This record gives sequence, C-alpha cells and structure tokens, in this order.
Amino acid sequence: MIRAVFGDALLNPATGEVTRQAVVIIEDGRVTKAGSRNGTQVPRDAETIDAAGLTLLPGLIDCHVHLTNLGEGLDFARELTTPPTLELMRAVRAARRTLDAGFTAVRDAAGSPAGIRMAIDAGYFPGPRMFVTVSALSQTGGHTDSHFMCGADLDIPLPDRPYMVVDGVENMRMRVREVIRAGADWIKLCTSGGVLSPGDQPHHSALTLEEIKAAVEEARVQGRKVMAHAQANAGIKNALKAGVATIEHGIWLDGDAIEMMLDGHNALIPTLVAPHWVIRHAEAGKMPAYAIGKARAVIDDHKASVKLAIESGVKIAFGTDTGVGPHGSNGEEFLLMRDLGMTPIDCIRSATTVAAETIGMKGVGSLEPGAWGDLIGVPGDPVADLALLAKPENIRLVVKSGEVVKSGTT
Ligand SMILES: [Zn+2]
Repeated sequence: MIRAVFGDALLNPATGEVTRQAVVIIEDGRVTKAGSRNGTQVPRDAETIDAAGLTLLPGLIDCHVHLTNLGEGLDFARELTTPPTLELMRAVRAARRTLDAGFTAVRDAAGSPAGIRMAIDAGYFPGPRMFVTVSALSQTGGHTDSHFMCGADLDIPLPDRPYMVVDGVENMRMRVREVIRAGADWIKLCTSGGVLSPGDQPHHSALTLEEIKAAVEEARVQGRKVMAHAQANAGIKNALKAGVATIEHGIWLDGDAIEMMLDGHNALIPTLVAPHWVIRHAEAGKMPAYAIGKARAVIDDHKASVKLAIESGVKIAFGTDTGVGPHGSNGEEFLLMRDLGMTPIDCIRSATTVAAETIGMKGVGSLEPGAWGDLIGVPGDPVADLALLAKPENIRLVVKSGEVVKSGTT
C-alpha cells in the first residue's frame, strides 16, 4: 500500500527547514520520500491523504509516561477496588488519547507490562509505539514501595510485572533479570524519593551506588539502558556515576551534576508539568495531603534546576510523567520548556530527533527515507507558534505507519 500525504508545508526538525507545498510518500508503513511536491514523482497507485492547510512534521515522542495510570489524581479507595485487569485496560484509553495528542511513540516509565506494547503492535487497539520498563525498582521504603503504614501493600506483582522493591546488589541483579524476562526494553530505578510516595522525601537519595551499578551492568549485558527517577542531588550523582542513561525529573541539579551530564552519554527528562498536575489535582480534592506540600515545595527548585541544565547545554529529551496529569495533555510541557529558555525548534527536537536518539527507538523522530510513516499535521507553523503542539485539538492529523489514526480536531 502506497500513500501520499499532501500538506501545505513540511518541517524537518533536524535542520529546522520548512518546505512549502510538501508531500510525504509512505510505502508499506515506511517513508520513501518527504519533501517538495515539485520534482517528486508520486506513484500513480498512491492513495491520497489530504492535509491542506497543515504543516507536517514527524510524530512526537514522550520519553516518560505511565499509560496504566488514570491521570486523575490519587485515590487509594479507588485503587483498592480496581482489579489488575481494569488497571491494565486503562492503557487502552490512555493510548488513544496519547495518539490524538500527536505522540506516536512513548517510553512507559513503569506500570505497563510488555503485553500492552504487544497488543498495540498487533493492532488490538490504537496506540503509540512503546518501549516499556514494566516495573520501577526502588529500595524498601523507596518511591515505588507501596507498603503503607497500616501494613497494606498495593504493589501486587503480576506474572508479567515483577515486584518492585529491591535491596542489595545480588537482589538487584535478580530483579533486573526478572524485569528483562518480563519483556522490558528499559530498566527503571528510583535513585531518590519522590512527590507521590508517602514514606520518602524527594531530596533523599535512594539505592546505594553499588546497587545502581549492578543494575546498569546487568542491563548492559542484556542490551538495555537504565533510566533513573532522580530528584535529590545525591541521587542524581549516584545515578550518573553508575552510568545511568537518563535522569528523570532532576529537581536538584548543581554544577557538578551538570558537568557529569555534559559528556553526551545521557539526557535529562524534565517532566516540568508533573508537579503542576499534582497541585491542580490537589486543588480539585483529588490528592492526598502529603503529596500537595511536597509538590509545592519542589516546583520552583525544579524550574531553576532545569533552567540551569538548558543554559549549560545538557541534552534535554521531552518527557511529561503523563499519568500524573491526564493522558493527552502531554503537549503542555512544550510551553514550560520554552518558558525556561529553550527555543521552539529545540523544544520540537527534544520530542523528535533528540527523544529518538535518547531512548534508542529506530525509525521515529524523523521522516527520512526508511523511517516509520508516523507524522502529524498542525494548522500553522509550530516554530512560530509552539502552542500549536500544546493541545490535542490543534493536532488535526495523526498518521502512524502510513495509516490515518486521527483526522480533524477530535
Ligand atoms: Zn513517572
């Protein structure tokens, strides 16, 4: 099947170049040509996709989402009455909303078993291409230890979603092997406390350097990389020393941490929008009291930290922690990144070329020949008006593997 997408313009994020009167030709799901209509031979049997009035660009990538999280605040009574199958089914709606917002690829930062990625790939329901981490590993009492002081434990391991708590080097090796056995593409560790966990603090580090190193080594021998939920300064530095590839959140970076990040082997995933959503949910009465204070306490330091990283030239890849906020709201992050000094084209690169390179997913983030035929269309120039990428209603066309998965405003 050959398809030809005719748009008013085509933005190449890598170069920043805009081609007017553009066409993208997609054959059997892969791009064969993307450029000016002038001089492009469109195969006669190509099916036409009309994108008049739209600027085309590669499908967006979010490097940090949680598709099985509801994204509507934290309600423990609701979680206690949610069967595991229902929790997994949340991903069906989340995947649709993520696509509708223009995100055709994501890295799930815990919660989604590999079966969700496999179901989307098999066409059981529409959704973005996925990399999954399956389980986020943390120490006893750490960010993903779901034991509560009453004695209840909300982390119910599934056959394909291993238990998340781990202590000690040998135990860490086993857990990483379990997660890989369950189909993880990336390994997720929590090297600091967090905002939504009741028993820890964002400014405390978690896991020892030896434990983190064991995870990185075990991941590497099986061809995987490690992402670290790292908010505390010491937790960020331990993760970087151990060779973690991506720092998630990075609330308390300092000059030394920035220096360690400038070797080009890692990236910061800011998730600036996440604490905003914690506060919004709190104001709507949908957050436990302990999380509200923590979110308010970190928000300014988080901005200052990410601003320092941007100014220092740290590689920034787009990620939102959506699942804290509602699925489909991912694009708001673009505006927060711009507010901290990133240029619009760098914001767009962070969610295309840079994101693809950071998570190591092939054939996404560009429309070079051979790439997946994943593209979006917006009514105007997103470099001049970045807000075009911020709301799902502005994403007028979404194509994945050459198939139209969204057309129009809804
Ligand atoms: Zn997260």
